[in-house]
Amino acid sequence: MRIDLHTHSCLSDGTEPPAAVMAAAKAAGLDVVALTDHDSTAGWEEAANAAADLDLGLVRGTEISARWQGITVHLLSYLHDPDYGPLVQMMDQVKRARWERAEVMVDRLGADFPIAWENVAARSAPGRPVGRPHIADELVAKGIVADRAEAFARLLHPRGSYYVRYWSVEADRAVELIRAAGGVPVFAHPGAVGRQRVVADAAIEALVQAGLAGLEVRHRDNPPEQRARLTELAERFGLLQTGSSDYHGSGKPNRLGENLTDEPTLAAIAAQGALPLIGGGRWAP
Ligand code: AMP
Ligand code: ZN
Ligand code: FE
Ligand code: FE
Repeated sequence: MRIDLHTHSCLSDGTEPPAAVMAAAKAAGLDVVALTDHDSTAGWEEAANAAADLDLGLVRGTEISARWQGITVHLLSYLHDPDYGPLVQMMDQVKRARWERAEVMVDRLGADFPIAWENVAARSAPGRPVGRPHIADELVAKGIVADRAEAFARLLHPRGSYYVRYWSVEADRAVELIRAAGGVPVFAHPGAVGRQRVVADAAIEALVQAGLAGLEVRHRDNPPEQRARLTELAERFGLLQTGSSDYHGSGKPNRLGENLTDEPTLAAIAAQGALPLIGGGRWAP
C-alpha cells in the first residue's frame, strides 16, 4: 500500500484546493493520503468528500506550529477532534501571530522592494494561516524573484534581515494538547538541518514524555545522517516512524509519494486516533 501522511492545500500554503490534492494523490497512485494544512482543519470536509468519491483513504490531520527553546518545531497531529476547545484556541492564537508577523515582514521588505501588504493578505484569507510562502508568491508576482525557492533562499531565510519570528506554543504543550484532543502527534521533519538548528536528542526525549507518538523520519529535508539518528531515536523510545512528501502543489518541488509510510504504522496511528480514517474499514487495523 502507498501511504503519504503530509500534504498541504491552498487553505494553508499549498497551491491547490483540498479536492485537487486528493485527485493528485489518486493520480500519483496513493492508497492513503493525509491532508495536514498548517494550524487549520478547514480543508477536512472538502478533502473527505473528494476522497470518498475517489475511493482514496484519507487521514485528517493538521501541521501545528510550535517551538522548542527558540527553534521552530512542526508537529503533525492526526485524527484529532477538530472541535476540542483548547487546541482550537491555540491554533487561533498562532494564526493571529502569523498574520501580525507577516505584516511586519512585508513592511520590512517594502522598504527595499515594491511589495504591498494588501496584496500579500489577499493571498490568504481571514481565519486561514498566512506564511512566508504567501509573501514569496507576491515577490514572484512582482518579478522580484523567480520562484518560491529563490524567495526563501534570498529574502525569507530565518537568518535574513527581513525574517520575523512569531509566537507559537511550546512543543511539549502542543503534544499534550494534541493528545488531549484525541490526536496522534508526530514530529515533522525533525532533522531538517537546512532550516534552523535541529532539536537535540534530549528535546525529543522530553516530547516523548509529553506523549509524542512518532517521528517523520523519511522526509526530503532530513539528510541521510539525520535519518540514521532519527531511526535510532525512534527505536530507543519506541516511536512510530513515518515517511511523507510534504506536498505543496506547485509551491515546492516535493512530489506526492516521494516518501511513504508502511501499513503497520498507519494501523497504529488509526488505533490511537479519536477519528476514523475516511475510506472505510478497508484501512482499519
Ligand atoms: P512559515 O510557516 O511562514 O515560517 O513558512 C514556512 C513554510 O514555508 C513551510 O510550509 C515550508 O514548507 C515552506 N518553505 C520553506 N522553505 C521553502 C522553500 N525553499 N520553497 C518553498 N516553500 C518553502
Ligand atoms: Zn507549508
Ligand atoms: Fe513543516
Ligand atoms: Fe508541511
